[in-house]
Amino acid sequence: MNHTSYIEISKSAYKKNIQFLRQEVDEQTTISAVVKGNAYGHGIEHIVPIAEAAGVRHFSTFSADEALRVFEASSKKSEIMIMGMLENSDLEELIRKGISFFVFEFDRLEKTIQAAKSTGIKAKIHIEVETGFHRTGFEWAEREKLLEILRENESHLYLAGLCTHYAGAESVSNYVRVREQIKKYHQFKDWFTEKGMSFERYHTACSAATFSYPETIMDMVRIGIASYGFWPTMETYMYKFKSLPENNKNPLKRLISWKSSIMSLKKVKMGDFIGYGSSYMAPRDMTIALVPIGYSHGYSRLLSNQGKVLIAGKIVSVVGTVTMNSIAVDITDLKNVKKGDEVVLIGKQKKNEITVASFGESTQQVNYELLTRLPMDIPRKVVK
Ligand SMILES: *Cc1c(COP(=O)(O)O)cnc(C)c1O
Repeated sequence: MNHTSYIEISKSAYKKNIQFLRQEVDEQTTISAVVKGNAYGHGIEHIVPIAEAAGVRHFSTFSADEALRVFEASSKKSEIMIMGMLENSDLEELIRKGISFFVFEFDRLEKTIQAAKSTGIKAKIHIEVETGFHRTGFEWAEREKLLEILRENESHLYLAGLCTHYAGAESVSNYVRVREQIKKYHQFKDWFTEKGMSFERYHTACSAATFSYPETIMDMVRIGIASYGFWPTMETYMYKFKSLPENNKNPLKRLISWKSSIMSLKKVKMGDFIGYGSSYMAPRDMTIALVPIGYSHGYSRLLSNQGKVLIAGKIVSVVGTVTMNSIAVDITDLKNVKKGDEVVLIGKQKKNEITVASFGESTQQVNYELLTRLPMDIPRKVVK
């Protein structure tokens, strides 16, 4: 092992998640796999082939660099869509590669038309409309001007989508706001239709909206967190729970396990302090195992004296502070543990499991943040 830890990614778990999601949407609905944030920390280059093997043919990224990585990793000519950042200087390359992107302001629209003219290829665009998220999107008041430009440039633009994004479909506290957004979106949609303008796909739903507001499903859903085996929030799961079949109350399977191994063992006398400072004094004679992962690897300092890991199938505790490169864990009560034994930081070992959620709770991070903070340089390994 050249690295101090590695991440396993389960191919079969991803497939099960997509199968479950397929049942949740209509037959003709496209599932776009959202792979922003380096595929939620899993690695774009790993997820794209896994997703394609599970039948996915549409990917969504935040930025142009991610889209180009998907393009390289795809062997099935899947569609690729950028939902956020790109530079004007990227436009011609994106158009040539057939990569579509959100357009939410006139400046980008004009630059897109110019690039389509100079390449002689239609640019595939998704018009994003402002419905209440207040981040990006054309305003209602801008619709006439927008329509006019779209009409004038019909020969340079392919209208791939009309879209918006919800401001928190994962919590009932945003219910009124999301309902308003759905209404606003339909005002835009109906207005364009009345004017005789149609789009290839109408799409608004993320994971939470797909589960909690099924009327938002339409032609395509943009699924991130659920495809990686996580409910957007506990609340979304609770909402969905009743309608799940008795024999499948836990349909989303996590892909990730994070593993390391024991670097060395040490005996500590009662009264000795472990690690930096005095946050942990041994309450008895102890054996500790040193594990070579620390906050530089994404194992938060907040897990000092809090974290749990699995060794020999048992849950054991982090003692003392998490340092840059290592943690100490209490293995006093385990028998036959030796240097080199597997340590599970996230995932299963025998009958026990450390979930990302339980890990996240003690560090106050949501699943999304925790996953995407797993450093890119920890090697990822695809397993069955
Ligand atoms: C991130 C994102 C999604 C996916 O959200 P999940 O909650 O992970 O399913 C969908 N649409 C847009 C615009 C996004 O930025």
